Amino acid sequence: MEKINRITSFSVDHDYIVPGMYVSRIDSDIITYDLRTRKPNCDDFMDSLTMHSVEHMLATFARNSDLSDKVIYFGPMGCRTGFYLLMRDTSNEEAYSLVKDILKKTVDHDGEMFGAARKECGNYKELSLESAKAECARYLEALLEREKLGKADFKYDKE
Ligand SMILES: [Zn+2]
Repeated sequence: MEKINRITSFSVDHDYIVPGMYVSRIDSDIITYDLRTRKPNCDDFMDSLTMHSVEHMLATFARNSDLSDKVIYFGPMGCRTGFYLLMRDTSNEEAYSLVKDILKKTVDHDGEMFGAARKECGNYKELSLESAKAECARYLEALLEREKLGKADFKYDKE
């Protein structure tokens, strides 16, 4: 059998991951950020409705920001404890500011859920702006808390 290599994201000890923003991997000029909204393996997973709704809001705001041409991808983790944001040609600080900004924009959003029409999405009925707002408010608070503790350094905790 061919040798299967363990991918980088599986090499991080998930017992020590807490909500925060981390550099997951760097591939030449593309940085993959781990936007961890929930603590792994604590029976505290995002439900599909929440995850899908956050994806619609944050992806749209990210692609409408000043850094829109640097955003490569935004999408949910299959384990339902966070999202991946891929950026090109930005500093960690710029990416972090962008994330805080799009979280605030979602929390303050006074309008429609983005991309909620049948022709725009593969599961358009499974969307809720309220769920997106609640998750984004909770995650923003977690980021600010980590920042206060001086731990917003994009590195995973080792213990
Ligand atoms: Zn969708």
